Amino acid sequence: MIAFDLFCENDHVFEAWFKDRDTYEEQSRRGLIECPICGNNNIKKRPSQFAIMKGGKREAQGEGLSERDAAIEVLKRIHSYVMKNTEDVGTKFAETALKMHYGVLEPKNIRGVATEEQEKMLQDEGIDFFKLPVLSKQRGEGDS
Ligand SMILES: [Zn+2]
Repeated sequence: MIAFDLFCENDHVFEAWFKDRDTYEEQSRRGLIECPICGNNNIKKRPSQFAIMKGGKREAQGEGLSERDAAIEVLKRIHSYVMKNTEDVGTKFAETALKMHYGVLEPKNIRGVATEEQEKMLQDEGIDFFKLPVLSKQRGEGDS
């Protein structure tokens, strides 16, 4: 997944998430992206952008930022996005995600915590989720 900062003709800034950059380009070209505030579909991308990781693999893209600064910037933005747009289910994350996956619960955006076993189970089930490192508590990242 990749998120872009987009803005419309009326200067409304919003974030939108796409499978990858090509998906964005395609939707943009076809005028499928609309401003959530005014519905305008003349959308442009702001220069800054960030990508996020799946399954713990981190990718950061920034302009003129060190990899670490870019990663922190990415995290801050993702965290604020997530806080605004998700419901906190705490330790019931895996359970809730599974129920939504099997249609027991209405799909919604959730956040919460999961153990490594739960994460693996969700991955095995083919459930998409994002893992956000906690800013204040660094874990070993296995960088060389
Ligand atoms: Zn707008």
